[in-house]
Amino acid sequence: MIVSVPKEITPGERRVALVPELVSKLTAAGLEVHVQFGAGLEAGFRDKDYEEKGARLASDAFAEADVLLKVRPPTADEIAKLREASVFIGLLEPYTSEAQVRLLGARKVTSFAMELMPRIARAQPMDALSAMSTVAGYKAVLLAANRLSKFFPLLMTAAGTITPARVFVVGAGVAGLEAIGTAKRLGAVVEAYDTRPSVKEEVQSVGAKFVELSLDTRDAEEKGGYARAESTEFYKKQQEMMGEHVAAADVVITAALVRGRHAPILITEEMVRGMRPGSVIVDLASAQGGNCSLTEPDREVIRHGITILGPTNLPSTMPFHSSQMYARTVTNFLMHLLKDGKICLDPNDEMTRATLVTHQGEIVKEALQAIFGAARHGS
Ligand code: NAD
Repeated sequence: MIVSVPKEITPGERRVALVPELVSKLTAAGLEVHVQFGAGLEAGFRDKDYEEKGARLASDAFAEADVLLKVRPPTADEIAKLREASVFIGLLEPYTSEAQVRLLGARKVTSFAMELMPRIARAQPMDALSAMSTVAGYKAVLLAANRLSKFFPLLMTAAGTITPARVFVVGAGVAGLEAIGTAKRLGAVVEAYDTRPSVKEEVQSVGAKFVELSLDTRDAEEKGGYARAESTEFYKKQQEMMGEHVAAADVVITAALVRGRHAPILITEEMVRGMRPGSVIVDLASAQGGNCSLTEPDREVIRHGITILGPTNLPSTMPFHSSQMYARTVTNFLMHLLKDGKICLDPNDEMTRATLVTHQGEIVKEALQAIFGAARHGS
């Protein structure tokens, strides 16, 4: 079976779906690995690094692939090059890539969306989203530090004492917790808020103060561990109560998401106006609409003296480690699907069921059928 890895062609995408260190893991399992010329170059992996580990270099990664490993969703042209009944594993962005999902179905490709991996302990080594959120949380702090006109740490100098920067993190999931840890390591004073009460201990364990707001959050967590969508009144109250914490911060990092929804607006223009000039907001929810009402995706907005960044693909700005981490999750999943050197779809396997999007010409993911159907009927 040939496992193929193309060069990503999405503008600005520098990651690659397989790194040289993992080639031998696949060949040891009886797979042949083909890597497109230059596929890893932007992430820091040379063609010869793959070759030395046993991969074959190819000018076209699609035509011969039994299994295609990818980072970003395939384009229509790429799908047209795939063989019928081949397997696609990647970040498919299935909820917003209806055209590609339909084309994959029509081409009878068996496709898996890595972002649908269930957040359960057994699936942790295959959890691509968490891996990428870790990178985003880390890099968000570095971006903020770079824009801030202040030091992060407390400094005692001959020119006097410098007080540490104050960082407020809103949404302490995987990205938020990594941001807290990074800001702490740089010496900032960090506080954080999340609607899920269970997060309080995690926030404290990475050295930040958990902000207590008098909001009723007893039902804020769903069964799967994700945050529940709250009412408009709830978010309005949350904005009011967070106002003083936002105003006191030099840096605000927002990473508050509700699965399958637009990100809630938690920072209004009024709140931005209340911040000290020179302060910085990094909105990690930008791709989902943003947590700050002034965020513009992938733009640097300066309003009321505050710099607002809305990066949508921070993992791509650290392509070496992002690729390494992503590739590990993808190969772990591929190994999980293999039985005697062949891909085996076990309908009782939770990871397979959760991530399988198209198979044998059908869109098998029920949630997608519902969403695409609804979109078609204009609801
Ligand atoms: P996410 O990206 O969906 O959301 C980020 C954070 O935003 C969450 O912590 C959420 O509670 C928070 N949030 C939502 N609305 C908010 C609001 N109005 N104000 C403040 N915060 C708000 O979350 P995630 O990082 O993907 O993690 C979700 C959960 O899954 C966490 O409990 C995490 O520990 C868990 N998890 C489990 C595994 C696993 O076991 N394999 C892996 C990763 C994450």
